[in-house]
Amino acid sequence: MNIHEYQAKSLLRSYGAPVSDGRIVTRAEEAKTAAGELDGPVWVVKAQIHAGGRGKGSFKEPDAGEKGGVRLTKSVEEASDEARRMLGRTLVTHQTGPEGKQVGRVYIEDGSGISRELYLALLVDRQTSRISFVCSTEGGMDIEEVAASTPDRILSFSVDPVTGYQPFHGRRIAYALGLEGKQVKQCVALMGMLYRLFVEKDAEMVEINPLIVTDEGDLKCLDAKMGFDGNALYRQQEIASLRDESEEDAKELQASKYDLNYIALDGEIGCMVNGAGLAMATMDIIKLYGSAPANFLDVGGSATKEKVTEAFKIITSDKNVKGILVNIFGGIMRCDVIAEGVVAAVKEVGLEVPLVVRLEGTNVEKGKEIIKTSGLNVIAADDLADAADKVVKAVNG
Ligand code: ADP
Ligand code: MG
Repeated sequence: MNIHEYQAKSLLRSYGAPVSDGRIVTRAEEAKTAAGELDGPVWVVKAQIHAGGRGKGSFKEPDAGEKGGVRLTKSVEEASDEARRMLGRTLVTHQTGPEGKQVGRVYIEDGSGISRELYLALLVDRQTSRISFVCSTEGGMDIEEVAASTPDRILSFSVDPVTGYQPFHGRRIAYALGLEGKQVKQCVALMGMLYRLFVEKDAEMVEINPLIVTDEGDLKCLDAKMGFDGNALYRQQEIASLRDESEEDAKELQASKYDLNYIALDGEIGCMVNGAGLAMATMDIIKLYGSAPANFLDVGGSATKEKVTEAFKIITSDKNVKGILVNIFGGIMRCDVIAEGVVAAVKEVGLEVPLVVRLEGTNVEKGKEIIKTSGLNVIAADDLADAADKVVKAVNG
């Protein structure tokens, strides 16, 4: 689960990390008062969306193409005008996709004099099962771009969980970033705070880009992006309360309410499968037969008829879906339950695209019988390859 920059900065502040003073604004009327509470002489107005690249992003209508989800202003009036201008509009960045994201909140913060922009991140390194620091002197830009063109400018190393964070880790980062004097001490302290936050809050990713050296020579976190482990939210109530549902894919949100493992993709074949491995294999074979999956969905072993019905509804609510493939290998999951769910869902929402069903395993005959006697226009398939072939052919007419 991701959170907004202003929420991440509030967390950073609570750990003692250096961030600018700022105010969050959700309605244009609040902007002037909010900006008036800050010192100036520069007020930075920042669109709050769950995507990076805001500074270089551009707004959609009106004034399509107009640049900038991060604006530097020189007065309270100018700042509140910018906030008013951003609220409610759609901002497109290289991370939002062409559809962009609607700006529902704007953060106004004190401007900082910048002498250097650095890059810093903490993430879970799945290869070593440890927390890794990643840092670079090339802050402010895409780390992917730095990694591709000048990989030697990135330092990354993991921390042994037995010893945890040690001051030498911080010094290693400080020297790699070319920090001097008091900055080294600040860096050692800041990295310790970030590591503690990461562990205590079950974070998956903390990215500070840019981490700056101010004109006064101090370190400061100028941007902050954080993601948290969704499976740990049950014990992270403070983090869970920061969830902004408007930022999430509506279909994924609906699926999470029914405890379905669903991930929206941009292909045209909706998939309903049991078991994550079989779901992955199903997506692969759809690709092999020349099409692309519209989603990943593992209905799990304990799915009820209601859950299957809901899953089917979520799949059909995707406008891109031109065909559906139900692929069930019933082990713990029973084929008749799946069949009942599919039939109930189709009766409720209708079926406007071809549906291919492959059932195998526990209660398979019962499942096939339910589908056959339902009167639904279903294409039956014998195995995985046959199913993929049939659904791709049906979609392509
Ligand atoms: P994004 O990464 O989404 O583009 P950032 O918060 O990193 O957004 O802002 C983009 C750039 O805007 C930063 O690299 C920095 O140069 C500038 N900037 C952001 N916040 C401030 C601030 N408070 N004071 C001065 N400059 C800022
Ligand atoms: Mg940034």
